[in-house]
Amino acid sequence: MADAAVHRIEFVDLQAQRRRLGTRIDEAIGRVLDHGGFIMGPEVAELEARLADFSGAEHVISCSNGTAALELALRALDIGPGDAVFVPTFTFASTAEAVALVGATPVFVDVLEDTFNLDVRSLERAIADVRTADSLHPAAVIAVDLFGQPADYDAIGAVADGAGLAVIGDAAQSFGATWAGRRVGTLARITTTSFFPAKPLGCYGDGGALFTDDEDIAGRLRSLRVHGKGADKYDNVRIGINGRLDTIQAAILLEKLEIFSDEIESRNAAASVYGRLLAQNVTTPIVASGATSVWAQYTVRVPHRSEVIERMRSAGVPTAVYYPLPLHRQTAYAQFPTASSGLATSERLATDVLSLPMHPYLDEATQAAVTAALLAAVMDE
Ligand SMILES: *Cc1c(COP(=O)(O)O)cnc(C)c1O
Repeated sequence: MADAAVHRIEFVDLQAQRRRLGTRIDEAIGRVLDHGGFIMGPEVAELEARLADFSGAEHVISCSNGTAALELALRALDIGPGDAVFVPTFTFASTAEAVALVGATPVFVDVLEDTFNLDVRSLERAIADVRTADSLHPAAVIAVDLFGQPADYDAIGAVADGAGLAVIGDAAQSFGATWAGRRVGTLARITTTSFFPAKPLGCYGDGGALFTDDEDIAGRLRSLRVHGKGADKYDNVRIGINGRLDTIQAAILLEKLEIFSDEIESRNAAASVYGRLLAQNVTTPIVASGATSVWAQYTVRVPHRSEVIERMRSAGVPTAVYYPLPLHRQTAYAQFPTASSGLATSERLATDVLSLPMHPYLDEATQAAVTAALLAAVMDE
C-alpha cells in the first residue's frame, strides 16, 4: 500500500498525542522540577481527585504500576496463603502474578469466545472444584476487562456474592469504559488500573491506581502503598510496599486526562471504521450490549496467523499477539489449579487472535492501508 510505504504505521502512536499536547507536558514537568516535591507532591492528590471525578469512585489511590495495584488490592483484603483467587487464564501475567506474590493460589478460569472476558460458568465450576478439594478457601475473583471492554460484572457479582468471594476488577486496559451505565472504577469492590505508556490512559513511565467506594479499604490501601504506615511513616502498623506514583507521572497524567474523553471517542470511531472495512471477511471484536469499550486493543481472529503477521509486516503494518500462551500453559503458572471443565476457549483464542494498530490518532488512510494489508493476507490463504 502506498500509504504504508510513505508513513511509518505505528502500533500505538504516542508521538501524535505528544504533538497535540504541545508544550503542556514539558511545562507540567517543569513545574514539578521547580517545586521539587518529587515524592507525593501536590500533583498526586490533584490527580487522585480528578480520577475520582472522572470515574465516579469515592476513593482513588494512585500507585506505582498496575501490578502493584493488584498486589495492594489483595493485601487490603487480607488475601494470602490458603486462599484461592479465581483469575482468567487469557490475560497478562500480572493478574495471576499478584495472587502468587501474596502467597495465595491463582485458580485459572476460562473466558468467553465473543468478549474474551471471564466465563461465569467456568468460574462456577472452578469454585465447586475448590470446595470439593477442600484444601483452599475461595476468597476472591479478579475480573479482567480485556482489550478495553468491562467483564460481565452483573453475572460475576451474582456468582461471587453467592460464594462469598470479593470481586476485584483488573481494569488495566479498560479505564474510561462503562458497564450498564456505570463507569469502570465503580464496578467492583476494588478496581485496579495501569498507566503504562501504551494503555488507553498512559504516563511516561510506570504508574497505576486503585478505585473503591469503601472508606476502610481506601485507608488500608493508603497505608499499604507506603510500607504499611500508621499515623506517620515511621510507625508501621502492617507490612506494605513502596508503591507510590511519582509526582512527575501524576503531572503528566493530569495533562493527558484533559483530552482523555476526546481520545476515547476517537478510539471508538477508529474501531467502527475497522469494523466497517473488515467485518465481512474477518472475525472482528464485539462489544456486549450495555457495555462500552476504550479499545485498548482492536483484536481480530485469523487462521494461519503467523503467515498473516509476516505478510502484514512485509506490507509495513505492525501487529501484536495478546496473548500467544494462556497463563496456565506458562512455566511459572503451570503448577496452579484450573477449572475442571477445561480452558478450551482460551487455548483456541491464543492460537488465532491478532491485534491491529489502535490509538486515537489513526486516520482513515492508515486504517485503509491496515485493512487492505490484512484482507490481502487473509485472502491469500
Ligand atoms: C498492563 C496490565 C497489567 C499490569 O500493569 P503494569 O502497570 O504494567 O504493571 C495488569 N493486568 C492487565 C490485564 C494488563 O494489561
